Amino acid sequence: MKKVLVINCGSSSLKYQLIDMDTEEVVAKGLAERIGIDGSRVKHTPAGKDSVLIEEPMPDHNKAVELVLGALTDKEHGVISDMSEITAVGHRVVHGGEKFKSSVLITEEVISAIEECNDLAPLHNPANLIGIRACQKLMPTTPMVAVFDTAFHQTMPEKAFLYAIPYKYYEKYGVRRYGFHGTSHRFVSERVAAILGKKPEEIKTIVCHLGNGASVAAVCHGKSIDTSMGLTPLEGLIMGTRSGDMDPAILSFLMGKSKLNIDQMMNVLNKESGILGLSSGLSSDFREIEAGVKEGNVAAQRANDAFVYRVAKYIGAYTAAMNGVDAIAFTAGLGENNAAIRKEICSYLGYLGVEIDDERNAVRGKETVVSSDQSKVKVLLVPTNEELMIARDTMELVG
Ligand code: AMP
Repeated sequence: MKKVLVINCGSSSLKYQLIDMDTEEVVAKGLAERIGIDGSRVKHTPAGKDSVLIEEPMPDHNKAVELVLGALTDKEHGVISDMSEITAVGHRVVHGGEKFKSSVLITEEVISAIEECNDLAPLHNPANLIGIRACQKLMPTTPMVAVFDTAFHQTMPEKAFLYAIPYKYYEKYGVRRYGFHGTSHRFVSERVAAILGKKPEEIKTIVCHLGNGASVAAVCHGKSIDTSMGLTPLEGLIMGTRSGDMDPAILSFLMGKSKLNIDQMMNVLNKESGILGLSSGLSSDFREIEAGVKEGNVAAQRANDAFVYRVAKYIGAYTAAMNGVDAIAFTAGLGENNAAIRKEICSYLGYLGVEIDDERNAVRGKETVVSSDQSKVKVLLVPTNEELMIARDTMELVG
């Protein structure tokens, strides 16, 4: 029986899933949090059993990996008897720059190449690398694979990924659109084709990954040809706390008016904007926005309307980019759970012949076609599964 451990390592947290590749089922999952901070703990959930909380100091990621492996092999709440049962480890890596167009087996050269991308994702890549090193230390003979958030979008043509600033900045510093959520967009677009009984090469799909972080991708005949996030995840849709698209001149204007320095300004755009900012601080969580809308809260309605409008605008743009669209898919926390948002976005798409079936749309977290039989474009809800995609890539490379 082959099992893959999927690791998603942040600067102070480590998420994991152990997946049985024969059945593609999750055997156990969990989260190590507050690594390097007081009050660190691992929440470990074996499939079909209650979660256990392991409260132990974790001064670094090595200790976190040690505790995770301990939980997985524990006599009581463990799911494997020995670490050797882990066939391979798949690591999520945020930025692969232009170097990585697909997932790769991790070698010393790969680690150096990921390090070279650190500048492009200074908050994420170093943490991903720490996770890789920690796993290598405790599982020195287990093969490991890196799966990049950016890789799926490496098929974008130059006209889509270039910014209209002096070309030398692309040549010198790699300033271009990279896009993120690639593993999710790939998983969902492949599922859409399978659900519709087509090959990915036969259809044009727009994937709306709507979570706290949100992005849209135009997937034309199985390849990403454009996506809304850019050099960083700040561009594109209105997100939980990120502004998405805006006039870049707003930065210098506001820095002058409010006397903010560039770090404070970036903090405003990343942490205080989006739904949170538009709702005048009500919430970055759409559940509270939805509740506010029902109560007639003006700020909640404002945030809701702007969010929906931006998604609809991108769908229109990507329909033009692909010269048509066969399917629109919704995924991630909001896309999978919020029927009202799916309906509202689609209400802008009458010109495409999009028609939602309210009964079909009254569903959460389940693969479903939510458009009517007459709808000219199929609209689908497809729960994303980035961990499974990482595990599949890992198995494919490990053999
Ligand atoms: P994510 O980043 O994918 O976890 O998505 C977070 C967003 O999805 C938040 O704005 C939540 O309001 C929304 N969301 C997540 N789970 C649910 C749920 N069960 N019901 C309604 N909304 C949800």
